[in-house]
Amino acid sequence: MPLPKTLFALALAALAPLGLAQNAPVLNIYSARHYQTDEALYSNFTKATGVRIQRVDADDAGILARLRAEGSASPADVILLVDAARLWRAEVDGLFQPVKSPVLDKRIPAQLRGKDEGAGAQWFGFSTRARVVVYDKTKVQTADVETYEKLADPVNKGRLCTRSGSHPYNLSLFGAVVEHLGPAPAEAWLKGLVDNMARPPKGGDTDQIKAVAAGECAVALTNSYYLARLMRSDAPADRQVVERIGVVFPNQKTWGTHVNIAGGAVARHSKNVQAARQFLEYLSSDDAQIYFANGNNEWPAVAGLKPTNPALQRMGDFKAETIPVSVIGMNQVKVQQMLDRVGYR
Ligand code: FE
Repeated sequence: MPLPKTLFALALAALAPLGLAQNAPVLNIYSARHYQTDEALYSNFTKATGVRIQRVDADDAGILARLRAEGSASPADVILLVDAARLWRAEVDGLFQPVKSPVLDKRIPAQLRGKDEGAGAQWFGFSTRARVVVYDKTKVQTADVETYEKLADPVNKGRLCTRSGSHPYNLSLFGAVVEHLGPAPAEAWLKGLVDNMARPPKGGDTDQIKAVAAGECAVALTNSYYLARLMRSDAPADRQVVERIGVVFPNQKTWGTHVNIAGGAVARHSKNVQAARQFLEYLSSDDAQIYFANGNNEWPAVAGLKPTNPALQRMGDFKAETIPVSVIGMNQVKVQQMLDRVGYR
């Protein structure tokens, strides 16, 4: 059926400002990102290349389910996800294809890429977030929480709050700890965390921060961007929360703070592989890196770029762990079994 006249006119009107023909090539992006600043990312790419972007927005799990259901008929070209564990899962499930790109190999640090068996990496990290400790400044000494290991120390008995142990952000952190400490000490550490809980795990990361500020817990784990969001908020309640809490980037004297990524890949059945690769390369450019990272208050993946984001500037520089993020994914099954054994819900 032909497009109704008004709709057709609308579609043309939408293309006109970008100087695009109605038959301009289209890139289909499935994205778990939904940030205002991303609009500039997409329109700048279209301006530079003439490739129009069509976006499907869903969360990570929704995108993976959709790709599986669509199979080889999937129109997806580029996939954007917001967690290393999920990127790893998609890689293992064969939902991506390798990308050979000298640009991406040069720009994106090797430890922030997926598996590469010679044909190129399966995915690339484009921004990083840290899993940090927040604490109640009125009750806790910084020294009590300066490492992840310390969170399991009896000094923190009855103080700790976290979201579910099985949430990907915690699975990723725990997967990293397994890598740093070895499986047996990591399991003992997880048991220590359970013993130190102020309450059974519940809620999201922001809920943990607020529970610390409310005095319900004294120590909690959160991704850095939830904290940055509160730090940038003008709401009086959020300001009070930020004033009450201290922040620690753990393990600065040892292996560094755990970092996770948001990243992208080319879909297994993409029919526009060249434009898809071009889009990923574009995401590694200086300008796009700043937009991409700022969209969710994260750090650029490309080395040497400074955040323009005031909350991140306030948090300052820190030492990040350097293990490959793909290892974190590989440890997830092991970690889930440990959680079951130590009763970490
Ligand atoms: Fe999140």
